Amino acid sequence: MNTQDFDVLVLGAGMAGMSAATEAAAAGARVAVLERAPMIGGSAAISGGYVWAPATEDDLRQEDQGEYQLHGAKVVAGYGEAHSWLGGFSAPLTQERPALAGRGRKYDLPLAFSRMSQVIQRAGGMVLPAVEVGDIVRDSAGGFLVRGTTDAGSAAWRSRTVIVATGGRQADPKARAELSGGAGMALRGNAYSVGGGMNLAVSLGGVLNLENKGFYGHLFAAGVTPVSPVDFIAFALYQSEKGILLGPDGSRFAEETRGDHNNATALAAHGGRGLLMWSEEVQAEAAAEPFVAGSPQMDRWQISKDRGGRVGVGSSLAEITEAAARWGYAISPDLASDPAVSERLGRGRIYFADVVPAITYTFGGVRADARGEVLDSAGEVLGGVYVAGADMSDIYHKGYGGGLCAAVVTGREAGRNAASEALRPVPVEASAATGGQP
Ligand SMILES: Cc1cc2nc3c(=O)[nH]c(=O)nc-3n(C[C@H](O)[C@H](O)[C@H](O)COP(=O)(O)OP(=O)(O)OC[C@H]3O[C@@H](n4cnc5c(N)ncnc54)[C@H](O)[C@@H]3O)c2cc1C
Repeated sequence: MNTQDFDVLVLGAGMAGMSAATEAAAAGARVAVLERAPMIGGSAAISGGYVWAPATEDDLRQEDQGEYQLHGAKVVAGYGEAHSWLGGFSAPLTQERPALAGRGRKYDLPLAFSRMSQVIQRAGGMVLPAVEVGDIVRDSAGGFLVRGTTDAGSAAWRSRTVIVATGGRQADPKARAELSGGAGMALRGNAYSVGGGMNLAVSLGGVLNLENKGFYGHLFAAGVTPVSPVDFIAFALYQSEKGILLGPDGSRFAEETRGDHNNATALAAHGGRGLLMWSEEVQAEAAAEPFVAGSPQMDRWQISKDRGGRVGVGSSLAEITEAAARWGYAISPDLASDPAVSERLGRGRIYFADVVPAITYTFGGVRADARGEVLDSAGEVLGGVYVAGADMSDIYHKGYGGGLCAAVVTGREAGRNAASEALRPVPVEASAATGGQP
């Protein structure tokens, strides 16, 4: 079997992996990026493309008060530099605009990825899709041997350092069941991210923090089955932040104004099925304006209805009560006396949907230090192994501060550090033991 030698091996060609590989290549490293899917880009290539972050650490802390939110401050601090860097590959498509709990700009990420690939190749590296990595072992010189299969058969790659950036584990149905108390959840992200990178990091001695059960996702109308990744954006019911969300017993369990992504997390922890209601005014607004300026505008209630989602509209709470009972929801007549309900549902017609949470990516993953170096169970760095993006645990926990910016910031950091370690001169004894091979 032919074994190719590189300075840095990156697993995963999404936002974090491509940022890491490009940064490492720019530092002079020969980099191989191994991608499991037949095409590069991961969730980033099918995302809204908004690179955003909270404006201050206080804003981040307000959004995410979780005890496992350890690396989020890096994202806030790295926002400006991430934009300057990304703008060198693809000019922003929008001005800076408010986005969720912060602000950001939209980019043409497939264009950025193709230009990043050129940088990697010009430095003697490669970006290889359709690779199934089997295992990673340390070689006698402290480097790594990665074995796997490609379209052409078995293959192996050797390198001084490894960066794990495989995008989380949301595509694993077991993970989705775990994060939703056994109920299961729809997938709203790249279908190749089943936790492969996390398992490989563990095989090298790394540890996971799966106590961090946070995730980023959105609400979908029950009954809607996405047929392509385009649907991941088309069916997210972003307007839930202006609505009322009830559990099957008819009671509210979330502060809906914290945003649709937080409503999805709350619903997953609350049985996985809810009744979402919103006013005629909110419906008119949501149908007329895109959720974030620059995104496609669409009537999500209507397209959910067209595609078989369980949605409806009624002239009063009493009318909805009857319809909702058929879907298994017991709405109490006392609900109308909740001031939030009367204020948010107004006096016009009420739109409603039977909803389920859909996950985009997981927040719990591989434990790492601030430089992105993977930690062992004693909290010491493994040496030579880095992690970035959604595979990196504890960037967020109980809130969300932007996935693309987090991937760029942690990816570049891991790429810089992995390249610097890989390009350090090899000690004489190790060099002699391997016949000069790195
Ligand atoms: C519909 C949608 C809209 C979104 N919109 C936004 C937005 O506007 N703004 C924002 O900030 N975030 C958004 N996100 C989230 C954002 O895309 C992610 O946070 C970001 O892409 C994470 O980067 P990553 O590199 O960790 O993962 P990815 O970009 O998903 O890349 C991981 C890569 O690793 C590959 N891989 C998986 N397993 C293996 C393996 N074993 N070996 C090798 N490769 C492997 C995957 O195929 C994938 O290519 C959105 C996501 C989706 C799905």
